[in-house]
Amino acid sequence: MKDSFDIIVIGGGSIGLAAAHYASREGRKVLVLERFGYFNDKGASSGAERQFRIQYNEKEISQWVLDSIPLWEELQSEYSVELLKTVGCLWFGNPKVTGAEGQIEAVTRVMRELNVPYEALGVREIEDRFGFNELPPAYSGFFQRHGAAIHVQATLKTLHRSCTESGRVTLKSRITVRRLESNPDGVTVETDQGVYHGARLVVTAGPYVNEVLSLLGVQLDLVIWEMVGAYFRQIDPAVKFPTWISFDEKSGDDPMLYYGFPETDWAHSGHYVRVAANYPVRTFRDVREYKQAAEPQCVKKISNWVKRHMKGLDPKPHFASACMCALVTEPENEWVLRREIIMDFAPEAVPHHRNVVVCASGWNYKIVPLLGKICTDLALRGVSPYDLSKLRLAEDVMAQSAR
Ligand SMILES: Cc1cc2nc3c(=O)[nH]c(=O)nc-3n(C[C@H](O)[C@H](O)[C@H](O)COP(=O)(O)OP(=O)(O)OC[C@H]3O[C@@H](n4cnc5c(N)ncnc54)[C@H](O)[C@@H]3O)c2cc1C
Repeated sequence: MKDSFDIIVIGGGSIGLAAAHYASREGRKVLVLERFGYFNDKGASSGAERQFRIQYNEKEISQWVLDSIPLWEELQSEYSVELLKTVGCLWFGNPKVTGAEGQIEAVTRVMRELNVPYEALGVREIEDRFGFNELPPAYSGFFQRHGAAIHVQATLKTLHRSCTESGRVTLKSRITVRRLESNPDGVTVETDQGVYHGARLVVTAGPYVNEVLSLLGVQLDLVIWEMVGAYFRQIDPAVKFPTWISFDEKSGDDPMLYYGFPETDWAHSGHYVRVAANYPVRTFRDVREYKQAAEPQCVKKISNWVKRHMKGLDPKPHFASACMCALVTEPENEWVLRREIIMDFAPEAVPHHRNVVVCASGWNYKIVPLLGKICTDLALRGVSPYDLSKLRLAEDVMAQSAR
């Protein structure tokens, strides 16, 4: 006999665990299937920290971030844990350059429209207040005080704990999904550990989403970015870095797009600060191409940037690592994002397609709780209070083969 659940979640990363957390809060019986171990370093949620920022080029996404704040606060207070370390967020550089996260000019416009407070800054203030050095005189930027570093592993552990303690969520790991069938009764999931039935299926497999969707006969037009970062030892304890992103035009073979975090002991004790490249070292479509190795040339570029502009850090890199994220990019330029988030039912080509909810793509850690809640809304009620029209799996997001 098949085990039956209200919702089966494929992908026990941050969004999958958040979906299970909210479904269990509604008294639903949930099964989470994770292909590797929980808290693994093979998906988009690997590593210690992510940036929480309100500012986006798109007003709707900024509003989603604002709406996520009470959900983060609820998790923090219920589990007495610090998930967001609020140190503010600094963006600086050439305000007309668009990087992976947006553009200084565009996001300041959105912040004004939404009455999000920020301080406009000239280059001297950026250097004096935040410990950066030798920035080009034409640079400008802003500081948004609600920006934060997100403690990724604590978030995963909190959501996992909530699922475990609920008594309603079955968490399976190291499981291989072999076959999926969406039928009038729901979804049947065949795995190497058994066959399960769910009234609804939520697919939150991160960069592996196409591997799962291929079992339903569809594919999304996603590009996977392999990205690299490293830790640098803080040698000037007086400098307190916020979360930050720098924007500039490419110079020679250096894309000149970097970002970083405050000092935390989340990954390594001993006063280390993470600085990373805000561009892909490689892009590919087949997740099996992921090497999970920090490309040395990129680490060198990050280190050179640190040497020039962050004299409070020793420029020798430590603990360099890679991570990957699946994104919807412009067809002619895989470095430019076309969509931040996908949140929808499976494409209509899938039988009884509203049995299956798909959430993927983008810089979404800051809205993990909200995305988990929306997955649950779509799975349980078929609707969300949010306007999802711009996140749909429209024609342009389907891979050629699936159109
Ligand atoms: C380098 C980098 C920097 C980023 N920086 C930021 C940032 O500063 N701010 C921000 O908001 N966001 C950021 N992001 C994005 C953010 O990390 C992701 O949006 C978020 O982690 C996605 O979580 P997820 O649960 O969708 O995916 P994942 O964490 O990848 O989870 C997917 C899970 O599904 C499992 N899985 C895959 N296939 C299967 C299968 N067949 N069966 C069962 N399980 C399966 C995987 O093992 C994994 O555990 C960054 C991403 C990267 C890569």
